[in-house]
Amino acid sequence: MTQVLVGIGSNKNNPQHQIELAFTRISERFKDAKMSPLYLTQPVGGIPQASFINAAIMLDTQLSAREVLDILMDLEAQAHRKRANEIPNGPRNLDLDIILFGNVILTDPDLTIPHPRFRQRRFVLQPMCDLTPELIDPVSKNSISQLLDACTDENWVRPLESELLAL
Ligand code: AMP
Repeated sequence: MTQVLVGIGSNKNNPQHQIELAFTRISERFKDAKMSPLYLTQPVGGIPQASFINAAIMLDTQLSAREVLDILMDLEAQAHRKRANEIPNGPRNLDLDIILFGNVILTDPDLTIPHPRFRQRRFVLQPMCDLTPELIDPVSKNSISQLLDACTDENWVRPLESELLAL
């Protein structure tokens, strides 16, 4: 079994519903999948757009990384994500990325693991840290909590629960 960390995000067409539906579908494929709390996060990259909801999902599988990627891309397609119309870092119904896949290190043209930008992104590290702070990044050899402590990303990341209570 390989432990997999997946990043999930949405800022279009009812983001909370998109994420909960995708997690339900993931739980049907991977029993014992766990999702972190949801976060409301500032979009990265300077394009004016709605805030994102982000979370992390942890699952165990005997499938290959490529097979898991195919399943995730299929879920993105089911959420009616249309890559051809997208601008980089722009709005999207559903984004699913493999962040870590056990200790696998892979740099293929279409699949890089660990995800190349996850160490710079608070919206990825914070929910991962809620699930598994001691997990080690096989490239930097740092734990997720060490990477979060060292992260200089100033884009805000706020627990969705507290945002809703403040309304
Ligand atoms: P995006 O959803 O726009 O972030 O990009 C998805 C594309 O990035 C897919 O077509 C994948 O082939 C490629 N990709 C490369 N590495 C990864 C990864 N670790 N997780 C998900 N997609 C990846």
